[in-house]
Amino acid sequence: MHATGAIQDIPGKFDPAQVRDLFPTLRREVYGKPLVYLDNAASSQKPQAVIDRLIRYYSSEHSNVHRGVHLLSREATDAYEAARKRAADFLNAPSESAVLYTRGATEGINLVASSFGPLHVGQGDVVLVSHMEHHSNIVPWQMLCEAQGARVRAIPVSDTGEIIYEEFERLLGERVRLLAIGHVSNALGTINPLQNMIRQAHELDIPVVVDGAQAAPHMKIDVQALDCDFYALSSHKMFGPTGVGILYAKPERLKAMGPWQGGGDMIETVTFEQTTYNEPPHKFEAGTPNIADVLAFAEAIDFLEGIGQDRIAAYERDLLDYATEQLLQIESVRLVGTATEKASVLSFLIGDIHPYDAGTILDRLGIAVRTGHHCAQPLMRRFGIPGTVRASFALYNTFDEADALAAGVRRVREMLG
Ligand SMILES: *Cc1c(COP(=O)(O)O)cnc(C)c1O
Repeated sequence: MHATGAIQDIPGKFDPAQVRDLFPTLRREVYGKPLVYLDNAASSQKPQAVIDRLIRYYSSEHSNVHRGVHLLSREATDAYEAARKRAADFLNAPSESAVLYTRGATEGINLVASSFGPLHVGQGDVVLVSHMEHHSNIVPWQMLCEAQGARVRAIPVSDTGEIIYEEFERLLGERVRLLAIGHVSNALGTINPLQNMIRQAHELDIPVVVDGAQAAPHMKIDVQALDCDFYALSSHKMFGPTGVGILYAKPERLKAMGPWQGGGDMIETVTFEQTTYNEPPHKFEAGTPNIADVLAFAEAIDFLEGIGQDRIAAYERDLLDYATEQLLQIESVRLVGTATEKASVLSFLIGDIHPYDAGTILDRLGIAVRTGHHCAQPLMRRFGIPGTVRASFALYNTFDEADALAAGVRRVREMLG
């Protein structure tokens, strides 16, 4: 039997071997080789405690929430709302009602674009994004702008993959009514200077939506310190199940927003003449929610907090520095994204070798990386490349795995270089 959820017992120093032991998938082999899983920016593996939580819920606790007077329903409701409290604490949200459950970061951003967007963005206005956004933080704004007669503009990015700050400041003056910005770039690993950007946007009364999908697994997030208006994230990138995420929203924003989807749970009274709506957060959660995954997500949050995000960030920084050094010793390897502030992502090219070919060979060596445009086509176009090879690290990756990646890249060069 493996320990489940026993991370809290790991004293002082961070020990990836002990952490790895909690993740059953990391024990498997691919093509007869140990799996080296470096595709965490796409989705992370799940600790046993998260898996067990799903099984326990469906084995003995399942019932619908917010509906029944019977014991099972009350227990499910209590657990579901307790999970919301844990999520609120995790983000340092001012109250549970500021935390909405979604299907993921994508749905969270779409919710803001649909329910908040039209209140704030009108004819001739600008929604400002950056050139390094994930498609999830571009397309919903384009859809909004199309409906409102507004337009999306992008803050340019430097050769190192950082926002050109003077350009950001200049663009803020151009009828910007909303800033939508990623906390950490999934394609490059760049950590954006959110604190300053949000402060400057607010000086001009511009609300700020943060795509936090890539930050949540790697660093401490404090939505009150950031002072963002919205913060969206996905459970599956932070060791929780797929199909669930969080949208944090400032309570005063939620109050002003109309409903999103209509149905059960989001209403107060319904007649054919008129319907009145429930209070937030329920107003934005129509229908039976993803109860099981919410409960398992809370388990993932406990797991992260048990280790401590500061400890995770420190370990991953060392690991990223080491892996970067190893890769740069290989002739013809070129990093894409060399920002001073980076998290967990190594995007690179090996000479003229197509990323897809490199990824295929690495896969055969047991090394799972991502190749392609990483849902950031405008960014790849900016760098004049079709895509990159992306190795993205999580807290359970090791220095040995960084060595394995470097050895794999050398092998790719021998075979195709
Ligand atoms: C993964 C990701 C998203 C989308 O997340 P989903 O879980 O697919 O909704 C958005 N932005 C960034 C930066 C991401 O890495």
